[in-house]
Amino acid sequence: MSVGPTVQIVGGGLAGCEAAWQLARRGVRVRLIEMRPRCSTGAHSTDRLAELICSNSLGSALPDRASGMLIGELRRCGSLLLSIAERCAVPAGDALAVDRQSFAEEVTRAISSIPDVEILREEATGLPDPPAIVASGPLTSPALAAALTAVTGEEHLFFYDAIAPVVDGETLDRAVVFSASRRGRGELPEGDYLNCPFMREEYERFIDALVSAERAPLREFERAIDGGVRAGPGPFFEGCLPLEVLAARGREAPAFGPLRPVGLRDPRTGRRPYAALQLRREDAAGTRFNLVGCQTNLRPAEQERVFRLVPGLERARFVRFGQMHRNTFVCGPKVVGRTLEMKARPGVWIAGQLAGVEGYLGNIATGLAAAWDVARHLRGEPPALWPAETMIGALLAAVAGSDPDTFQPIKASLGLLPPLPNPPAGRPERSRLLTERGRAALEEFLADRDRT
Ligand SMILES: Cc1cc2nc3c(=O)[nH]c(=O)nc-3n(C[C@H](O)[C@H](O)[C@H](O)COP(=O)(O)OP(=O)(O)OC[C@H]3O[C@@H](n4cnc5c(N)ncnc54)[C@H](O)[C@@H]3O)c2cc1C
Repeated sequence: MSVGPTVQIVGGGLAGCEAAWQLARRGVRVRLIEMRPRCSTGAHSTDRLAELICSNSLGSALPDRASGMLIGELRRCGSLLLSIAERCAVPAGDALAVDRQSFAEEVTRAISSIPDVEILREEATGLPDPPAIVASGPLTSPALAAALTAVTGEEHLFFYDAIAPVVDGETLDRAVVFSASRRGRGELPEGDYLNCPFMREEYERFIDALVSAERAPLREFERAIDGGVRAGPGPFFEGCLPLEVLAARGREAPAFGPLRPVGLRDPRTGRRPYAALQLRREDAAGTRFNLVGCQTNLRPAEQERVFRLVPGLERARFVRFGQMHRNTFVCGPKVVGRTLEMKARPGVWIAGQLAGVEGYLGNIATGLAAAWDVARHLRGEPPALWPAETMIGALLAAVAGSDPDTFQPIKASLGLLPPLPNPPAGRPERSRLLTERGRAALEEFLADRDRT
C-alpha cells in the first residue's frame, strides 16, 4: 500500500505511461489523466494509452546508433514501454518496429492493472497541482496549452510534422516490388522491406507530379507561419519533412534521402535502381505497409494520383492517408531545468514531446527520467543529474541548455554527447567508443541506488 501524496500525470501517451509505471514501482500513487476518448487530438484514433500515431518504428536498434544507445539505456533502467515494444516487435531490419495495435493494447493493460494507478478519462484544462508531470504531447489540448503559456510567460512554439500514407499489402504489384533490406541486414531471409524500384524516367515523372500536386489547405492558426510550410525550413522539424517539400528544395533530394537505392538490386535487371521507395510492415502479418519517408501534406486524392505513379503501387489501396499536424512544445531552455522540472512552477515536471524532445524513444526516456526525479523529490532528496555521456543525460542537457532563440525539438544523436578526448578518425570506432563510455557512465550512475 502506497503512502505519501498522489502524483498527477497529464497524458497517457509514451512519456506519461512510462512515468506512471516508474512511479508506481517506487511505491508512489498516481492519477493518470487522459482526455481520450472524450476529447480527440485529431490524430489519435483509439482510446488506448500509448497509441503511436505515425511510424511504427522506434528507430535503429544497432547498439552504436543514438536510438540503439537509448534502447540499451531504457532496457537497463527497467523501462516498461521498451519491454512491451520488444515483445510486440515486427521484422524491420536493424530497426525496432512494433505492431502498433498490440503495443498500445499491452501498455493499456499493464497500466490499468496497477492498483496504485487511477486512470481518469478527462481533459486537464489547467496545470495540475504539484507534484505533477505534464506529458500531454505534441497535440496538447488548446485549453491546457493556454494554461501553460499563462504560467511560463513564454509563447508556445508551433511547428508541423507530417505522417506517411499506409497501403494495403494485397494491392501491391508483386511482379515489380521486391523484398530486401538495405545493406542486406534484416530478420527475414528475403529482407524485411519491400522495395519499389524507379527507373530514371519513372522517377522524373513522379517528382514532377509530386511538386506540382495540390497540398491540403492550412487551418487558420497554421497560416501565420505558411512561409515556412512552402519554403522550408521554417516550422518543420528537419528530420520529418514532407516529401513534396524536400523535392521542391531539389529534384534529386529524395533520391539521395528517403528514396536512396543504396544497397538494393532490382531482381528484374540485376542492377541498382535509380531510386527506390521502401515499404515497411505495419503489422506482423504484413497486410499493411507504410511508405517509408513519404510523409506528406498533399490532398488525399492527390496522394492517390501521385503515389500510384510509383512502380508497384499503380493499384495501391490507401488504408491511411498522410497528413500534417500541429506539434506543440515549450521552449525547453526557458521553461525547464535539466531534470525537466518547471522553473516557474516547482513541483511540476514536463516530459515527452511537450518538453522539446523528438522521437518515440526520447519521449519514453523523458517520462522515465522525470518520474525518477519526482520520486527523489518525494523522498526529500536532491536531484541527481544524469551523466551527459549517456544518451538520456545528453538529451536532458540539450533541452535545458540549448539556445532558446533557435530552439527546436531535440532528437537523440551521437552528436549531442560530449566529444571524446582523443577521437579516432573512423566513424564506426568513434561511435563504438562513445557508446561504451555511455554504458560505463550509466553503470556508475545506477551504482548509487539512491539516484534511481
Ligand atoms: C503527427 C505526428 C507524427 C509523429 N510521428 C512520429 C514518428 O513517426 N516517429 C517518432 O519517433 N515520433 C513521432 N512524433 C513525435 C512524438 O515522438 C510522438 O508524438 C510521441 O507519441 C510523443 O509522446 P508523448 O508521450 O510526448 O505524447 P503522446 O504520445 O501524444 O501522448 C500525449 C497524450 O496526452 C493526451 N492529452 C493531450 N492533452 C490533454 C489534456 N489537456 N488532458 C488530458 N490528456 C491530454 C493525448 O490524448 C495523448 O494521449 C510525431 C508527432 C506528431 C504530432
